[in-house]
Amino acid sequence: MTVVEQQRQVSGGLMLGTGSTVVVKVGGATLGGATFDSGGTLLEEVAALVRAGVRVVLVHGGGPLVTAWLDRLGVPTRFADGLRVTDEAALEVAAMVLRGLVNTGVVAGLSRQGVAALGLSGADNGLLRARQRPELGLVGEVERVDAAMLVQLLDAGTTPVIAPLGLDATGQLLNINADDVTAAIAAALGADAALFLTDTPGVRGADGSPLETLDHASTERLIADGAIVGGMIPKVRACLDALAGAHNALILDGRAPGVLTGLLSGSVAGTTVTPHTTPHPPTPSPSRGEGEQVVSPLSRAQGEPVGLSAPQSRETNPHGVGVRDPIAEREAHTYMHTFRRQPLTLVRGQGTRVWDDAGRSYLDLVAGIAVNILGHAHPAVAAAITRQARTLLHASNLYYTLPQIELAELLLPLTGMDAVFFTNSGAEANEAAIKIARKWGKRYKDGAYEIVTALNSFHGRTLATVAATGKPAYQAPFAPMPAGFTHVPYNDLDALDASIGSQTAAVLLEPIQGEGGIYPAAPSYLAAARRLCDERGALLMFDEVQTGMGRTGTFLACQGEGVVPDVVTLAKGLGGGVPLGAALARGTANVFEPGDHGSTQGGNPLASAAGAATLRALQQENLLEHAASVGAYFMQRLGELRARGLPVTEVRGRGLMLALEIDGDAARVVTRARERGVLVNNTGPTTVRMVPPLILSRAEADEAVAALVEALADVAGEGR
Ligand code: PLP
Repeated sequence: MTVVEQQRQVSGGLMLGTGSTVVVKVGGATLGGATFDSGGTLLEEVAALVRAGVRVVLVHGGGPLVTAWLDRLGVPTRFADGLRVTDEAALEVAAMVLRGLVNTGVVAGLSRQGVAALGLSGADNGLLRARQRPELGLVGEVERVDAAMLVQLLDAGTTPVIAPLGLDATGQLLNINADDVTAAIAAALGADAALFLTDTPGVRGADGSPLETLDHASTERLIADGAIVGGMIPKVRACLDALAGAHNALILDGRAPGVLTGLLSGSVAGTTVTPHTTPHPPTPSPSRGEGEQVVSPLSRAQGEPVGLSAPQSRETNPHGVGVRDPIAEREAHTYMHTFRRQPLTLVRGQGTRVWDDAGRSYLDLVAGIAVNILGHAHPAVAAAITRQARTLLHASNLYYTLPQIELAELLLPLTGMDAVFFTNSGAEANEAAIKIARKWGKRYKDGAYEIVTALNSFHGRTLATVAATGKPAYQAPFAPMPAGFTHVPYNDLDALDASIGSQTAAVLLEPIQGEGGIYPAAPSYLAAARRLCDERGALLMFDEVQTGMGRTGTFLACQGEGVVPDVVTLAKGLGGGVPLGAALARGTANVFEPGDHGSTQGGNPLASAAGAATLRALQQENLLEHAASVGAYFMQRLGELRARGLPVTEVRGRGLMLALEIDGDAARVVTRARERGVLVNNTGPTTVRMVPPLILSRAEADEAVAALVEALADVAGEGR
């Protein structure tokens, strides 16, 4: 399974696959107890996961074997409140057994299965920093995990096998409960799942039957009622702890054949622990047959049904009508009032979905406004960022840095340009383009400095890019504007022709006006602009901040028209979610010299590493082709809305950059869609925009259409 497929599964019915990260706890009893002899089949399953591309961290226990060796060596053990107190002699035996016997045995078992496993204890190289629990002697609880060390090993294709030992701040070795180690590591890694293998069929409910799911409240109730007892209590608590950072926690029957490999096809033998106290009532996904409500292990762990959840808006829940959300209140007291925000606090994303602070999921067709092209939490981008953050996060552009050069080398062939300058945003990329045009005008056109742009365009929020933006309302509060910008109606060739004169250094156009409402250039408009610029001696510059990075089905939208500009700008999706922009130029437009332009952080190692990982994933996962085909399908489905009597007057766009023009209030459609678990935004009073991750599936397009049908019907009804 490719990363894309896996991400799609995450968003619409998860199964583990290439790039998933899991932390697997195998208990001493599961490994064969005191005889330590039946880990074989389980390790075969671990090996199968690894072969399927799952990144596995294995944590093992060893309790029964430790007890057997304590007996064998005649080391007396003391118990306090039913728990063994570990003194120095007991710790020596525990360390010897865990690290010497069990860890080595598991590594050997995995090696026999062809897995490159590395045995470690939490005491190695600061992997686990622990705090002593003096009441239990030399026993600790995890204080800190060096997750980056594990990420490095996983990136190198190594499976870490961890014995549950750690050091405290003074260097004292401590024994740690393996479930706690598993939870802490899974949380620190932000793992897809923490998998606790036991020798039981999972957690049992009050009537003794195994439970499929268990949430926080019912866990506490079942413990209070005495239904969950003994060793299962710390295990379910460890699951809840794991969920502080991991996306799922499952208690599985380690004796069931296929317990791990089943997760590759979504089958769970055990109990999924979820953090939520009040899961939504399930709403079947419109893309599935009726009654065929598939609940995936991962989405179930979020307390969420697959498909459309029915989240209520913050206006009505959880704070009640008229009650101001405390988060909005805090923001109002601290942040400049520049954004009209949706009443939604997003805390997590995975694939095409995001989750709010109440655990509700949304299909995300906004994608950070066309930024998250690979979806959320893409493993390759996350790994590149982690690796780079541990290596060299930032260095000045005074020095050469390799990630920047690597990114440039990837980007130039994709754009057909000769050189690039990296920025932190789209506006800065356009600032660079504007300066390129002015420098070019000075050098090649008698000091020409004017730039022709289009009405209804958007080029950014800095002063020069606001001046370039063809929207008087954005300029008025900040007048006077920097001189040298002329605006012409978009798609009006005669007006463009008339505007290019002796003072014109450049024409700057969006191939599709994005913020203006997804208005594509008319056929041959861009080619005609190219011809006019060539005839009159002006640069042709395309602002592809929103249209670039494959959004329209070609890497640059202008490539779909066969038109090559002199300068092109990118940002949004370029850093895969990390702020990054680029101004690229070719031929005589490659005009900057030392001292002409600069940026302290533009294209720093972190952003460049994220950008390079994003470009590689875009290519490896064939997302240009995918965006073109799913985009065409989505557009066709949106085209059906009008025929269904809904208030849609036009569907515009290309690839996965789409808009609905509606006869009604677009902001209300946005609200109603959000209440149905789908995020869209409006770019004007009557335009609903969709710029989803390029990994969107057809089923998700169907899901979005179903939500929009209801949202539009609601708004039409409310209007009457
Ligand atoms: N240019 C275009 C076409 C855009 O759509 C945007 C942002 O929406 C920008 C420039 C500005 O980019 P940024 O917000 O990264 O400065």
